[in-house]
Amino acid sequence: MSTSLPGRDRRAVRHPGPVGSSRLEDPRHVAVIGGGIAGLAAATVLAEHGASVTLFESSDRLGGRVASWPLPGHDNRTMSRGFHAFFRQYYNLRALLKRSDPTLRHLVPVSDYPLQRPDGMRDSFTNLPRTPPWSVLEFVRQSDSFTLRSLAKVNVKAALELMQVHFPGTYDDYDGESAAAFLDRLRFPPDARALALEVFARSFFADPRDFGAGELVAMFHTYFMGSAEGLLFDVPDDDYDTSLWAPLGDHLAKLGIEVHPGTPVTWLSVDDDGVRVTTAHESYAVDAVVVAADPRAARELVADMTLTPDAGVWKEQVAATYNAPPFIVVRLWLGGHVHGDRPAFLGTTGYGPLDNVSVLERFEEGAATWSRTHRGSVVELHAYACAPEVATDPDAAAAVVAQLIEELHRAYPETETLPVVERKVLVRDDCTLIGPEKWQERPGVTTPSRRLVLAGDWVRCDYPVALMERAATTGFMAANELLSGWGVAGEDVWTVPVRGLLRR
Ligand SMILES: Cc1cc2nc3c(=O)[nH]c(=O)nc-3n(C[C@H](O)[C@H](O)[C@H](O)COP(=O)(O)OP(=O)(O)OC[C@H]3O[C@@H](n4cnc5c(N)ncnc54)[C@H](O)[C@@H]3O)c2cc1C
Repeated sequence: MSTSLPGRDRRAVRHPGPVGSSRLEDPRHVAVIGGGIAGLAAATVLAEHGASVTLFESSDRLGGRVASWPLPGHDNRTMSRGFHAFFRQYYNLRALLKRSDPTLRHLVPVSDYPLQRPDGMRDSFTNLPRTPPWSVLEFVRQSDSFTLRSLAKVNVKAALELMQVHFPGTYDDYDGESAAAFLDRLRFPPDARALALEVFARSFFADPRDFGAGELVAMFHTYFMGSAEGLLFDVPDDDYDTSLWAPLGDHLAKLGIEVHPGTPVTWLSVDDDGVRVTTAHESYAVDAVVVAADPRAARELVADMTLTPDAGVWKEQVAATYNAPPFIVVRLWLGGHVHGDRPAFLGTTGYGPLDNVSVLERFEEGAATWSRTHRGSVVELHAYACAPEVATDPDAAAAVVAQLIEELHRAYPETETLPVVERKVLVRDDCTLIGPEKWQERPGVTTPSRRLVLAGDWVRCDYPVALMERAATTGFMAANELLSGWGVAGEDVWTVPVRGLLRR
């Protein structure tokens, strides 16, 4: 148990793991379904406390939505599920990654990630104090998006809500309200509203009318108003597999975890006596199971599983969760360089479907090598919250890709004349959407059976955590739940403060 602070925020909160003996005395076999962050976190803590763990992953590699893979040709080209920001307040994800990279030397800071509009207006997060409220006050002072006149229109009462959060209650307080309705109530100036959406709501792959206000308010608190880590983030210094998952995979092997890549679990049966996990080729009897599959796959597994005690209401709650609209990631290998002052990551607003542009040779070693040897740039474009048909109609997806490239030319005009040496496009719709529905009706880590726990970024966690950090945190909590049932100690969980600055 470590009580030393996980970052620079002295108000960070430790949520102690279960107490008990440090290791299991009786043998217990746990199946973990899913090799993304949630499954990796759960498997690690279970194995560290003596459980025998078998991890099933349907794809051929670890990392889930943060996986990356080499492209044919051995010339340092890789593809991934897209740029990810590893914020400093991701305490539990960082604790997991430290298992194989104790000083996190493979995470490198991104010095700035400006937000740009076509009219030239830009907001930046550099040179801000990191501790609230100074971070917020200075950001508003520096930002082009806030003027004295527009500030006078802000609904002060609603704005103060952002500093009066209290978890877990805040998630419930916004039941039924969408992020868009909350922002309307806030009466932020339009530029600031767009900015808030760029930074927060869009990273949830959702139209703000469909996205829950509780999640948005929690994000404001977690990333900005309630944490002294600031809005700073790091990125891996090479593709995700090289920097993160291959080393963590080696660590899992040392812990004795049996990893079965390319092995989807097809069926689950859970009753009072045990769990049966079935794949295409085998069936395993285990003591407990962690379902850490992506949201759609988890829904399907739960819908088909047999579960005793009968838990119709819980199954309905799982079935009621849903995914966000599709998103597109385009990676371009260009036959020339973008301008030297282009940042590693640029958020964009007002550029059609283009949400951000990253220049990979600024931080990824493999991309930097390709860039040097081919005298070119590796550029990635994201479009979130696309129309539903983008997931099923290749022509609809191709039209968005064409628009993304046009918008790149508008944002970085020098790219218009650069030849495209290679282009990879990824279209997916496998992210969760946290809507305005009742928070308490979202399934949490525990389930009607003590042998079955859930983990993942779609699973309710009452702490102020989101996305990758919710995946890591629920992974630790899922392991803790099983370990505590066996009288064994588990992993402490850390979060940003659970109360806003103005909440007693
Ligand atoms: C383009 C993009 C950008 C993002 N940017 C950010 C960011 O900047 N910051 C951030 O915090 N988050 C970001 N996210 C979100 C982040 O990727 C997710 O929150 C996180 O990876 C979720 O992890 P997970 O373990 O819950 O699920 P997953 O990563 O989806 O892992 C689930 C795993 O289960 C496997 N699986 C599914 N079904 C089965 C089965 N039947 N049997 C065995 N295995 C199965 C899947 O193959 C998958 O590997 C981004 C996501 C995307 C797509």
